[in-house]
Amino acid sequence: MCCTCIVDGPDGGQRAYTSCGDMLSRVAVCGGTHGNELSGVYLVRELQKTEKPLEEEDELVSVLVVLSNPRAVQQCRRYTETDLNRCFTHATLNGPESDKTPYEITRSRELNSLLGPKGSPEAVDLICDLHNTTANMGLCLIAYSDHDWICLQMPDIPVRYIHFDFPPKEAYSLESVGKHGFEIGPQPHGVVRSNIYTTMKAGVQHVMDWVRFFNSGTIFEGGSVEVYTMVKNIDYPRDSETHSITAAIHPQLQDQDFCLLHPNDPLFQTFSGETLRYKGKEPLYPFFINECAYYEKGIALSLARRKWIEPFVAFKGRICG
Ligand SMILES: [Zn+2]
Repeated sequence: MCCTCIVDGPDGGQRAYTSCGDMLSRVAVCGGTHGNELSGVYLVRELQKTEKPLEEEDELVSVLVVLSNPRAVQQCRRYTETDLNRCFTHATLNGPESDKTPYEITRSRELNSLLGPKGSPEAVDLICDLHNTTANMGLCLIAYSDHDWICLQMPDIPVRYIHFDFPPKEAYSLESVGKHGFEIGPQPHGVVRSNIYTTMKAGVQHVMDWVRFFNSGTIFEGGSVEVYTMVKNIDYPRDSETHSITAAIHPQLQDQDFCLLHPNDPLFQTFSGETLRYKGKEPLYPFFINECAYYEKGIALSLARRKWIEPFVAFKGRICG
């Protein structure tokens, strides 16, 4: 069990004290959950080359490396029938199965058996699921908790923490099957860029080092983390009859992920040249701006509220007793 206390700091930020009672003894690194996000696909293949047999694994952590959606990877597509990374809700994992069940739903149940079952004591302790985005987001961790400080402190790599505020049963993506989990991005789909691959590889290596330090009793303190809690999604303007989009992201907003968007700032430029502005009352932080895979989901960008956290992480018993 984890326990967390968050208190307000003197600078208006918050300081989180987290203690985790259990070692993170079983970790899964998953890639190819989306078959055209190639950094994760090639990193998983690379890690599989060096994967140790169980009897040779070190005592601090055992690592399972998984290619999540091999059929989509073979076709270099996001998915073959339905988005695998939306199949891990309680309802979808436990629904009826027939000949017509999409491949990805069947695959989500296989992964739930391998890495879960979701919500059970047998689930792996941490899932690190590797993704790319076409948005200019840098290295990000996406998680369903805003107080799970596992793997947060990466001193050498700038990293942002995105918090999706859903209850566990409704959490739809693969990393929600583990007791802790996150996703990591960015890069255009269907290509691999060595700088992005190398950043992702360093991020995963850092996570594994962190887990080994944590399991050996290290207390982590110092540094601060930007936490972005998702508030809402904004769709493109669309033709009411055809549902086609009628505008693109405004050039002043393109690639400005995590730069504060103020009321009345340009949001879209219509195909006839008109500027459409942000009508919200509260300044918020945009991310996933113009993500290729989200046109079909009706998301042009997401908006988040930011806070700063200074995590302090240690085993239970060292701090909270
Ligand atoms: Zn993805």
